[in-house]
Amino acid sequence: MAVDVVVVGGGIIGCTAAWYLEKKGLSVSLVEKQAIGGGTTARNFSWINASTKTSDVAYHQLNAKGVQMYEMLAKEFGADKLGLGGTGAIGTVRRSDKASYTVMQDQARVLEGLGYPCRWLELAELEALEPNMVFADDTEGLLTPSDKSLDAPKFARFMVDQLRQMGGQVLENCSALEIDADDEGNVRGLKTDQGMIETSRILLAAGPDTPEVLGKLTGYDGFATRFPVNKVPGFLVSTPEVEAGLVRHLVYTDSGGEFHVFPEQGGGLRLASDDTDGQVLEDHSPGHLRSLARGLLQRLQDLVPGFVGPECLDDCALSVGIRAYPEDGKSIAGALPGAEGVFVIATHSGITLAPALGSLMAELIAEDEVPVMLKPFGLERLPGFA
Ligand SMILES: Cc1cc2nc3c(=O)[nH]c(=O)nc-3n(C[C@H](O)[C@H](O)[C@H](O)COP(=O)(O)OP(=O)(O)OC[C@H]3O[C@@H](n4cnc5c(N)ncnc54)[C@H](O)[C@@H]3O)c2cc1C
Repeated sequence: MAVDVVVVGGGIIGCTAAWYLEKKGLSVSLVEKQAIGGGTTARNFSWINASTKTSDVAYHQLNAKGVQMYEMLAKEFGADKLGLGGTGAIGTVRRSDKASYTVMQDQARVLEGLGYPCRWLELAELEALEPNMVFADDTEGLLTPSDKSLDAPKFARFMVDQLRQMGGQVLENCSALEIDADDEGNVRGLKTDQGMIETSRILLAAGPDTPEVLGKLTGYDGFATRFPVNKVPGFLVSTPEVEAGLVRHLVYTDSGGEFHVFPEQGGGLRLASDDTDGQVLEDHSPGHLRSLARGLLQRLQDLVPGFVGPECLDDCALSVGIRAYPEDGKSIAGALPGAEGVFVIATHSGITLAPALGSLMAELIAEDEVPVMLKPFGLERLPGFA
């Protein structure tokens, strides 16, 4: 079998990039070692936003492009088919918490300057938007109405369905093993456990496994130990179905370790917090996860007294997801320096970024020119690749 490009990794990034590559007129084979969308794509908070990415303009714009592209995809296919929810997000903060209040006001100012839709909320508006939540008297908030949520595995599966319909090939339960290259280092094919695929271009989208997979595919162990992507775990709780409208937006509060909740499309609530993320670094034991989940369910009940609280723990789904976190926090998306025909995407915020990175990467691979928006995200910026 021979194709123009092989994409390694059937997470949201690989599936979306593969579809955009096929749309560009290239023949594509997508290789996934397990099932489509079963990696980090199935274990994350799924908040599509550029509202929290304010410290770097290029990175903000890349995320904002991701948000806009979901809106375009929703017009083309319908939000339901994509698994896209459009609730908007609300950050809440107390005036008495001076440091956090200043940070959120600065965030609002920066977002306004960047042209990202946002509105400051007084307490009465907050209470009207989230009538089942209880806020302290000095609480205010920031609404970012274009933020969204996603059923990310559903979106990834939708992308591969589109890919198949256009003639692309999808190989599940198929592991990429080794790149076959000629003496000059030009790619000739990809060896997999289902046989060789002839190709001259390979796009690696292996999420948190990127360093090890790159080491294995190229035969250079240094990638496995020194590639500038860290694995950062996070903890998530999904509750059973709750009363409709109990929580209406994606809400994050800044009290004692940022706490997040959003209404999932299946009717439950998904919970996470920055401080519990920090507590799964070492210990993933079931007892530890249950105790963290109990704490999150209690925090939700404190915010939403109508929620049943920790007594639903046995009916909750608990999971730990692993972020691929590039060393400077921004995406890696571009050609692998020194290896003609090998391209890499490794990123955090991949739910937000999948359509933006997928389409820009397809442009780079199809047209052999780095799109302007992608220039700041090449590997050349990082130590060891300059
Ligand atoms: C707790 C948590 C919360 C998050 N919250 C958000 C959020 O709110 N918003 C946001 O935008 N992002 C969020 N993220 C980040 C987001 O989930 C990831 O950036 C995104 O899922 C990455 O997708 P991916 O396709 O790169 O990786 P993955 O989904 O991990 O896909 C990589 C795939 O490669 C496959 N693979 C690996 N090796 C091989 C091989 N040798 N051969 C073939 N296949 C292979 C794996 O099986 C896997 O399916 C969060 C992440 C975590 C962990």
